[in-house]
Amino acid sequence: MNKKIENFIGGKFQNSENDTIPIYNPQKGNIIGDVVNSTNNDLKLAIKCALSSYKTWSNFTLKQRAEIFYEFRNQLIKNLDSLSELIVEENGKILNEARAEVLKGIELTEFACSMPQIISDEIQEVSKGVECRSSHESIGIVASIAPFNFPIMVPMWTIPNALILGNCMVFKPSEQTPIGVSKIAELLKLSGLPDGVFNVINGDKKIVKAICENDDISAVSFVGSTKIAKIVYQMSTQNLKRCIALGGAKNHLIVLQDADKEMASDDILASMSGCSGQRCMAASAMVGVGEIQEVIDKLVMKAKKMIPGKNLGSVISKNAQLRIKKYIDEAEKNGAKILLDGRNVKVKGKEKGYFIGPTIIDNVTPDMKIAKEEVFGPVLAIMRTNDIDEAIKIENRSNFGNASSVYTQDGKLADYVSEKVCAGMIGVNIGVPVPREPFSFGGWNDSRFGVGDITGKSSINFWTQLKKRTTKWNKGAKKNWMS
Ligand code: NAD
Repeated sequence: MNKKIENFIGGKFQNSENDTIPIYNPQKGNIIGDVVNSTNNDLKLAIKCALSSYKTWSNFTLKQRAEIFYEFRNQLIKNLDSLSELIVEENGKILNEARAEVLKGIELTEFACSMPQIISDEIQEVSKGVECRSSHESIGIVASIAPFNFPIMVPMWTIPNALILGNCMVFKPSEQTPIGVSKIAELLKLSGLPDGVFNVINGDKKIVKAICENDDISAVSFVGSTKIAKIVYQMSTQNLKRCIALGGAKNHLIVLQDADKEMASDDILASMSGCSGQRCMAASAMVGVGEIQEVIDKLVMKAKKMIPGKNLGSVISKNAQLRIKKYIDEAEKNGAKILLDGRNVKVKGKEKGYFIGPTIIDNVTPDMKIAKEEVFGPVLAIMRTNDIDEAIKIENRSNFGNASSVYTQDGKLADYVSEKVCAGMIGVNIGVPVPREPFSFGGWNDSRFGVGDITGKSSINFWTQLKKRTTKWNKGAKKNWMS
């Protein structure tokens, strides 16, 4: 049965007068529903509801707001299976990956629930009888815009933190995967969230522009490709909003010759192929230093055992499939050696699905497109050098700076590489170095525009503003230069 995904405004699902956008099941290649493509009028209605709810919501105590999210966390646990199945259907990843995504969403919610324990206002007697106090205050109506690759986890980077900190939100999911956030809206309501605090506005780039230009929105968070992150950052800040915009990535794994061969090959495969390489934390470039042939042989042997449709999901769309194939074709044309070719995989029973098998490419040089650009598929480009500093240089030449990992058993060398590489999240013998809560998530360079990180303690500064109060009650307090 086809699903109709509507907006969620003021606690109710609502249609839009505008056209709709089809939603596909990427593993099967068929349409499973459609999502409304909102107009500026829909956005204005959502903002009106959010503004009206903000008056009471921002007056709740931090603890009262967190209590609603205790229940929301329980709802996520109760609905773990159905949420995971829904992710598989709209995104194309495999069930285990979808479950991991929801589990991370639960951890993010647990972190947000700990805000009352984390945030305590500062107070100090700055002069005899004079006190200074600072408190974190909400900022008002905020917006969050998401990509397709984690339909539940990425929304959970922003929703619990922003709301518990007293803001009301308008959320714009990816038009390719809008079902997850629609379900989150339902569960938030079920958990007791007052109507209007969380609103979902579906649609494409037109509604993103309307969000960035709306005068009532104080802050915009964005997660997506670098090209669009730049546009959203520029539009939002030009309209005097605070903005954090996370972009794409090209993550390097530097493999030294003393690396544990079994662990390195397992982790590299998991990193390049997990979620079909559609993770901003996926390792898509490997730089081998010295003699690392054994790691590559093991990697190829293990990758050959992956079965698309079983332990490897699809990519998101026909366009994505074509884009990835083009990158591989071009690398081959320019002299790279395809060790494992995933361009022509067929999945029985899912012949129309958008699959790409694991693809491992050797003899890549740093100037090739496949070494520099984000491919966003299960493809690994291998470069080789004999010099650790050259490997670091290759990594640092990248415009991106999300993650970087080093494989070695030598602590000193691990420290050396970790200190020199230019990326926000570093792994030592970890292929996907996503920081766990309460450590925050965020890259450097073209992987993040704005200040701070999007999750963890760092997010508190983004979703709040500090009020500073200086108080004197004692008329007899001795006067000095500042009182
Ligand atoms: P995308 O940039 O195409 O879309 C992201 C959002 O922007 C969507 O909601 C979309 O509707 C909107 N959008 C698209 N074109 C727009 C335009 N011209 N103007 C305004 N808004 C527009 O990204 P995607 O393909 O959905 O997601 C994949 C990308 O996201 C990859 O580059 C990946 O690395 C990145 N990503 C980054 C992180 C991170 O933490 N850095 C996390 C997840 C995904």
